[in-house]
Amino acid sequence: MTPPPVASSRRGRRRAAWLIGAVVLVVVAVAAAAVALEIQRRGALERIAEASSTLERVADLREDALDRYAAADAAAEESTETATAVLAHLRSLVPDEDLPALESAERLPEARVAERILDTLRAAERAEPPASETDFSALREAADAIEAEAADAEASLAAVDASSGELEESAEAIDAAVSSVSDRLPEEADRVEAENISAEAPARIALQKAARAAEADPGAAEIRAYVRSASAVRESQEAEMAEKDRGGLLDARLEVEEFARSIVGDVRIDFDWAPIVNGLGEGESAGGYTTWWYADGGYATIELSDSVAAFWPDERFRGLVAHETGHAATARCREVLEAEPFSGDVELLATAWAIGKGFDDPWGNGVDYYYGGVPPEQAVVEAALACG
Ligand SMILES: [Zn+2]
Repeated sequence: MTPPPVASSRRGRRRAAWLIGAVVLVVVAVAAAAVALEIQRRGALERIAEASSTLERVADLREDALDRYAAADAAAEESTETATAVLAHLRSLVPDEDLPALESAERLPEARVAERILDTLRAAERAEPPASETDFSALREAADAIEAEAADAEASLAAVDASSGELEESAEAIDAAVSSVSDRLPEEADRVEAENISAEAPARIALQKAARAAEADPGAAEIRAYVRSASAVRESQEAEMAEKDRGGLLDARLEVEEFARSIVGDVRIDFDWAPIVNGLGEGESAGGYTTWWYADGGYATIELSDSVAAFWPDERFRGLVAHETGHAATARCREVLEAEPFSGDVELLATAWAIGKGFDDPWGNGVDYYYGGVPPEQAVVEAALACG
């Protein structure tokens, strides 16, 4: 049986309809796939754009962040060094409340970022545009790579900033604690000097200068210089005391020296002792010789014969020491020496000064030795006292 042509024609139309439907579906599917791809392509481009802008921001901030870190790192390094010097040598001067800040210096290395993080930040650059905007798989790879790079760069910048902040804060706390110690150094230097008054004057002057330098600029070098100068003063004291002990006259020598200091006031004096000074010192004679310097507030070295200590406190010998001390006093009043009535006559000034201070026994005060037993006029004595 032959099927009716109508039915056949109907089946043909149905097939055509089905084919058209299939073609439409394929077209729709292809279009949908194209749309999906486009969406993903745009997504990748957006990711690239966003990551690029992050990288750009990091690259813009990079130099400042690295500079700040370098400065904070250097400051922390210096503060740590100073704190170490203070803790090692001046711990007894650190107020209790400042100890934790100084001790925190030991932990400062932990506040530093790893070199790898700095390298990442140094390398942070603006992203190159992708080679192709149409090759989706290349775009996706580029987006992944730039995002990872941006995340690393951003994290490194944050870490470097945080570390800079921590280093700055710690250095500031350490510096404040160091200052509370360095501010006390001039006073401490006075104490060390008073305890070591027999140390040589240049060593004591250096100590005072070091204390003031450390007060003004309390760096590790200045703190160490202070500590060194304090040690030098103590060593000098020991050496001087050993010298003065010669011949069992230590106590008498120290009394003589204290006497001179008590009448001269603020001029620093060193004392050297010898059997013979200025050709004198044998038997009941006494020799003295003084050298003075005008610098650094004035200081002097008085050499005395051992006989001065041996006969101390004989009034005649006190007169000689007063005369030598008058020379030492000249170290602070050059203008008095150079003016009338002295006009540079150092012996007249020393002799008149001794008399003015009340030591008028002519045997040793210069009256017999230089002026044939005739003391200077009262006006000259008064002029000498302008020297203090
Ligand atoms: Zn003299």
